[in-house]
Amino acid sequence: MPYTLRAIKADITTLAVDAIVNAANSSLLGGGGVDGAIHRVAGPELLMECRSLKGCKTGDAKSTKGYQLPAQFVIHTVGPVWRGGNNGESELLASCYRRSLEIAVANNIHSIAFPSISTGVYGYPIDLATRVAVDTARLVLKEFSGIVDEVIFCCFSAGDLLVYEGILDGGIGEF
Ligand code: ADP
Repeated sequence: MPYTLRAIKADITTLAVDAIVNAANSSLLGGGGVDGAIHRVAGPELLMECRSLKGCKTGDAKSTKGYQLPAQFVIHTVGPVWRGGNNGESELLASCYRRSLEIAVANNIHSIAFPSISTGVYGYPIDLATRVAVDTARLVLKEFSGIVDEVIFCCFSAGDLLVYEGILDGGIGEF
């Protein structure tokens, strides 16, 4: 079954998809950036459920309910901090996308939106991160065809959107 990969510019907390992905830190107890925005909109019950998860390793992911968010689930993943590129950053970032999509498949999630993991406070260069995001999503969706059929890369800035559009070849990539 075909799937679509697209990039849009939006606040991820407004998206009515089955799951949104959170670029969390390893404590899963909230932070700034997209993490803070997701917790603010989801409400305090999200933090309560996150406490029960006992953290998450870099490159791994864990899911919760979405509470007050329009999305039914939040998949929390912990991206790598950029340390120059020779410290396993690309493998760890690819693992974030892979683990998030595996959890989506396990939960029968059809539509999922990702923020640009690690490219905010964690400092991963946007062009390199976008290539990892798009390549990994294509690879994993080819393996698990038929469940996740819509992947949205949710950009927070117009500049990031341009980078994603360039790498997706004009906006929509279908396999
Ligand atoms: P990290 O620590 O993984 O770098 P950040 O939250 O600092 O995570 O940044 C990740 C990306 O999320 C950045 O591109 C940032 O601009 C973006 N971002 C911040 N707030 C939102 C939001 N509400 N919706 C979508 N993306 C967001």
